[in-house]
Amino acid sequence: MNTAQTPSPLIAAGLPAQFRLSIAGKLVEAESSFDVLNPATNAVIGQAPEGSAAQLEEAITAAAEAFKSWSKLDWQSRSEYVQRYADALEARKEELITLLTLEQGKPRHSQAKSEVEAAIYWVREVAKRHIPVEVIEDTEDHVVEVHHTPLGVVGAITPWNFPVLLGLWKVAPCLVTGNTMVMKPSPYTPLTSLFFGEIAQDVLPAGVLNVVSGGNELGQIITEHPAISKISFTGSTATGKRVMASGATNLKRITLELGGNDAAVVLADADWQSIVKPLFWAAFGNSGQWCIAVKRLYVHSSIHAEFTAAFVDYAKSIKVGDGMDATSDLGPIQNRMQYQKLLELFEDTRNQGYKFALGGTIDESLAGNFVPITIVDNPPEDSRIVQEEPFGPILPIIAFDDIDEVIAKVNASPFGLAGSVWGGDRSRAIEVAKQLETGTVWVNEIHIHGIDIPFGGHKLSGMGVENGQEGLAGFTNTKTYMFKK
Ligand code: NAD
Repeated sequence: MNTAQTPSPLIAAGLPAQFRLSIAGKLVEAESSFDVLNPATNAVIGQAPEGSAAQLEEAITAAAEAFKSWSKLDWQSRSEYVQRYADALEARKEELITLLTLEQGKPRHSQAKSEVEAAIYWVREVAKRHIPVEVIEDTEDHVVEVHHTPLGVVGAITPWNFPVLLGLWKVAPCLVTGNTMVMKPSPYTPLTSLFFGEIAQDVLPAGVLNVVSGGNELGQIITEHPAISKISFTGSTATGKRVMASGATNLKRITLELGGNDAAVVLADADWQSIVKPLFWAAFGNSGQWCIAVKRLYVHSSIHAEFTAAFVDYAKSIKVGDGMDATSDLGPIQNRMQYQKLLELFEDTRNQGYKFALGGTIDESLAGNFVPITIVDNPPEDSRIVQEEPFGPILPIIAFDDIDEVIAKVNASPFGLAGSVWGGDRSRAIEVAKQLETGTVWVNEIHIHGIDIPFGGHKLSGMGVENGQEGLAGFTNTKTYMFKK
């Protein structure tokens, strides 16, 4: 009998074999655990602790206790703590990148590396931001000042597409403004959050950042819990609505970063050859599993055929494969649930007789969740592939003649996350961009983000913003002081 065991992929990659919850400054195990899969193979890479409701309660109590002293620290001290956290993350960066690829699927050498590096940069730089006191009035006998005070315990709930970046986007502004946190990562990608939670315990005071993995029911408890003052949520619109409803129990402050169906509009005078590549990556980066991925590409009919041909040519040079393989440009779909949704959408697109300019058939015999780059040539506006958020590597390229009609189509979407306009006449392109009903609009560039640039969706794409002064302010109460002199 062969008793040799397959070595754990985590140990083989130089990673810890075990992950624990971070509660009250301690690393704790749970009574049960659940499997975490590698989406490139669907093999188990490790186990995540299944935090119980009681452990979540302990984490919330610890965060509330830690808030008492953390919120009283001056801003400079909190900033130094958070910058030390960035240093500690930096020291474990390579492990974090590998872990991200193993549980999320994105290529290690490119997209996983850039996600982790961006996240660490964010932590370091956000730590240096603060909201100054605003003096509204200072007369002979009266002073009016506006301060921003911390809220208390923040519940952070994150998705599986960018677990490191979107998680740390919440941690840094939450802590530097004086709040404490309980984070619940997606059950599909819990390990990276547990890992950055563990790292935090060496540098932050106990209870300031708690990470509890488990099922969706933990998210529900967080949103209902009376000791939590704010929810910072990134995920689907359907769940966002539930978060808002249950957060009403104690009128929680709520920030929602939700889904989108972003359009890119290429005008007739665009230098279209030069934008094929950026638009390809804007649509297919992270295998399309991106809230702000371009999900409908409208191209003026005078250049549609040439543009589509060049786009397909470029797409053919891109390799989809295991993210640990340095030759892979795009990885698999992160989980089976999303893969099944794509199978269904591909089938609908095929059954409706729409034309595939590339791809169109998912090879279900593969062990991993691989979906080929797929381009749908000019489907009708009311097709599912145009109207829905696929969250996968499939893109419709739609021809248009009348710009006002396109603007109306873009704005008819219930989503309003972001959009972009591409044209040779910059003023004309800006004029079109100004008419798009989205939280962010780019002209002749795309997917620029920054510490000081607010990001948030309109309509069903969300509420509130992350980043920028407004994002920081979202973690605070406005408090007005009036002093008689
Ligand atoms: P999801 O809504 O299924 O899950 C998100 C998180 O919510 C997970 O941690 C999940 O466990 C938790 N959750 C599930 N049910 C809950 C409940 N009842 N109460 C509280 N929490 C609950 O989303 P997902 O599938 O992980 O992510 C994909 C979606 O996220 C896409 O629609 C995408 O567009 C969106 N997204 C938006 C942004 C943005 O910034 N706007 C960024 C990334 C992803």
